[in-house]
Amino acid sequence: MPLVYIGLGSTLGDREQTIGAALELLAQGGDIEVATVSSLRETDPVGYEQQPRFLNGVAAIRTELEPRALLARLQEVELELGRERSGPRFGPRTIDLDLLLYGDEQIDEPELVVPHPRLTERRFVLEPLAELDSGLEVPGAGSVRAVLAGLQ
Ligand code: AMP
Repeated sequence: MPLVYIGLGSTLGDREQTIGAALELLAQGGDIEVATVSSLRETDPVGYEQQPRFLNGVAAIRTELEPRALLARLQEVELELGRERSGPRFGPRTIDLDLLLYGDEQIDEPELVVPHPRLTERRFVLEPLAELDSGLEVPGAGSVRAVLAGLQ
């Protein structure tokens, strides 16, 4: 089974608890095993400065779900946790789950791009990836370490 990396981000409420709840929901179906979770870090919101600060990390998982089915599961969990919050419908989100890397696969479809298209620009994703595996390769972009070294 390929090692798959998921980006975890939360801006609202008890962010750490929400990220933990998302990982629990993912593991509950029995077809996803959470292998390791990085430390979580606070980052400034990109683009929307009215939002509270993000808490971000990444998780390494093993799963038999193929990439599109996995993306659908991530979106289900986002919806599930999003339903629990009050506040404006299109306001800051409780949880954001991104499919960052799926083994060494490269996918370019309208609904799914892997590696995640903004992965190589985001220090708050690259650093926790390097924390879990300092030699990790981003298909098409080189090692996480080299990509980080090339960021301004
Ligand atoms: P966002 O609201 O930023 O999480 O973006 C969600 C949208 O991005 C959905 O419509 C997905 O189909 C699309 N998408 C494309 N590639 C990915 C990916 N690797 N991980 C998560 N969402 C993706």
